[in-house]
Amino acid sequence: MATYIVLLGPPGVGKGTQAEILAKQTGLIHVSTGDLFRENIKNQTELGVLAQSFMNKGELVPDDVTIAMVKDRISRPDCERGVILDGFPRTPIQADATKALLNEMGEDLAVVPYITAPNDVIIERLSGRWTCRAHGHIFHEKFNPPATQGVCDHDGSELYQRDDDKKETVKHRIQVYVEQTSPLIEYYRKAGLLVDIRGDQEIEKVTQDLLDAIEGK
Ligand code: ADP
Ligand code: ADP
Repeated sequence: MATYIVLLGPPGVGKGTQAEILAKQTGLIHVSTGDLFRENIKNQTELGVLAQSFMNKGELVPDDVTIAMVKDRISRPDCERGVILDGFPRTPIQADATKALLNEMGEDLAVVPYITAPNDVIIERLSGRWTCRAHGHIFHEKFNPPATQGVCDHDGSELYQRDDDKKETVKHRIQVYVEQTSPLIEYYRKAGLLVDIRGDQEIEKVTQDLLDAIEGK
């Protein structure tokens, strides 16, 4: 049996940061749909061109292409021991597809940590987020600064501010989250998979709570 974990929570709550740390500590593979889309945009693939038109507006990329992309990614050999899904599923259709996909493989979700923080906290986090050009490593100008300004600690590549982290787009993304993704809270609570995690704590403390949630399952 492999281990499949979904990190649920609003944009900016810390899913990517935590997934990166957890992947290192557990050996599971971090699968971020946002990173996969950004990789496709960088390479100007057909999928990237399509995704960009939605991402720039803070809208969700259509379910069918998103699901196909995840299916392809998690079927690869490196994911054999399991994955940490970050930013997926984001709609009830994606959640149903996740279940179907895993069941087809004879697998199931282990746990769905639901990370929360007040809106003003996530807005401040998004507006100060710096992302690494090469591999999507995540920093914050105030809360988690790189050793050298503008340079990724891990691979030396340039740090940039994502276009969709601009204030107007951020507000819209939070609204999209409330409308399209928040139904998954009840979906996974009913399935007995949800564990509430407070995201408005130090990064290390959130990691500890997540490890407890994962090991408790
Ligand atoms: P998400 O993947 O949920 O959108 P990120 O992991 O990208 O969130 O985090 C958003 C921003 O907040 C980043 O700049 C990150 O460095 C910062 N951040 C993440 N977790 C914390 C935390 N516990 N305390 C303070 N800042 C944080
Ligand atoms: P955040 O770190 O703020 O949560 P992501 O990097 O996860 O943002 O996602 C950035 C954008 O990529 C989203 O606003 C959306 O346009 C697109 N995206 C990412 N994941 C999905 C998904 N599961 N379904 C549809 N669109 C997605």
